[in-house]
Amino acid sequence: MAVDFEPDPLVAELAARTARFVREEVIPIEVANDGVAGSEQVRRELQAGARAAGVFAPHAAEEFGGHGLDMRGRATVFEEAGYSLLGPIALNIAAPDEGNVHMLEQIASDEQKARYLAPLAAGDVRSCFAMTEPAPGAGSDPDALSTTATRVPGGWRIDGRKWFITGADGAGFAIVMARTAGVPGDRGGATMFLVDADNPGMRIGRHIPTLDESLHGGHLEVTFDDCRIGDDAVLGEVDQGYRYAQVRLGPARMTHCMRWLGIARRAQDIAVAHASRRRLFGSRLGDLGMAQAMIADNEIDVSAARGLILRACWELDRGRHAGTEVSVAKVFTAEAVWRVVDRSLQLCGSLGVSGDVLLGRFLREVRPFRIYDGPSETHRWSIARRVVGRAAAAADSAADAAVDSAVGATVNGTANGTAAGGTAGPAGAR
Ligand SMILES: Cc1cc2nc3c(=O)[nH]c(=O)nc-3n(C[C@H](O)[C@H](O)[C@H](O)COP(=O)(O)OP(=O)(O)OC[C@H]3O[C@@H](n4cnc5c(N)ncnc54)[C@H](O)[C@@H]3O)c2cc1C
Repeated sequence: MAVDFEPDPLVAELAARTARFVREEVIPIEVANDGVAGSEQVRRELQAGARAAGVFAPHAAEEFGGHGLDMRGRATVFEEAGYSLLGPIALNIAAPDEGNVHMLEQIASDEQKARYLAPLAAGDVRSCFAMTEPAPGAGSDPDALSTTATRVPGGWRIDGRKWFITGADGAGFAIVMARTAGVPGDRGGATMFLVDADNPGMRIGRHIPTLDESLHGGHLEVTFDDCRIGDDAVLGEVDQGYRYAQVRLGPARMTHCMRWLGIARRAQDIAVAHASRRRLFGSRLGDLGMAQAMIADNEIDVSAARGLILRACWELDRGRHAGTEVSVAKVFTAEAVWRVVDRSLQLCGSLGVSGDVLLGRFLREVRPFRIYDGPSETHRWSIARRVVGRAAAAADSAADAAVDSAVGATVNGTANGTAAGGTAGPAGAR
């Protein structure tokens, strides 16, 4: 089946409306706040504006008040929302809520959907996703998961420490990954739990100071100490947490790419506007060869990233796991977005590092994306393992085929040359 890059007319119209809303209503608030997410009141005002503009919750199912876009539709609309650091918050498609809406739609029971998904999709509450732990716990290697959930009468008890939990401050609930079987280092044995923020066993700790500041609710340490929850808090099935994490992580990696691609485009627009006005050495900056190279490389990075995102989304929309396509798009986009913002800042000279444009803020915001959602090195490792694994399997099956055909030749050489040789033949031909 051919990949179709043409967005559906309804998606294109929603993207155009989103672009207008972001430029007219969101960017003035973003600039006034230096791109920092700001207060809960700002979030609510932005979301009220998005509702009025008819662009709120493009990802959520229609029954939860959204537009029900598939992954390719999201690629077009999220990029427009991502043109401002605060656009995703306005549309209720910022991390981690957007990924949590997606996962709850796929996995939650009807009761859990009514209790957690409906208010989350409506923007009435925020949420967080608690997987990462301080060393030696889970990070790039999820098998190191050390937070435990043990069975107690009537439910479960969670104990452990998490950190870098985005949005935990002010979240209404957390989706928590805890070990229900095996020991740290074992593959599998994790379960996801829904934990209400007012649970006395869940403590929100320190705000971790970080390079980035645009994600609402910050990045926090969260401690679980004798945190008691009922059986109804299990999300999906016990011991299936890693499988469910893939349901969330593949699409969530792509939606992060989409949003940051919007910021890369904005950075390029700022740089090109500057380069087309600024005069140096008797010509326009944008007519000088080395500046042209940076502008062209930005265009190439943005276009290539968009193509890779759409390709991965197309696979996800077909129900495929798309592990390699997602990893390729994630690594390329995270690194391309950084290059684009860095070149754009360079093109603007001292203006680029000043607070008069937001390029310095963009640079700080995009850098952590090369670490979260899987560091570039983890994705490269996993891409290479698949490629080498396929080559090794092909080599093994060629060797098997050679053995099979040798065995077949011997058997065919006997007086009764049908049965065994007849079975080995087609396998050898494959
Ligand atoms: C801004 C931000 C927000 C985050 N939000 C959340 C959140 O909401 N919820 C949550 O659960 N987590 C969150 N995280 C955590 C994030 O998912 C982890 O940082 C990430 O998984 C990497 O884990 P780690 O930091 O423990 O690094 P480690 O696992 O210790 O890795 C350190 C480094 O090792 C290298 N490396 C990794 N794999 C390989 C390999 N195979 N070969 C060679 N080198 C390798 C990489 O360079 C990597 O950066 C967030 C992180 C950041 C920075």
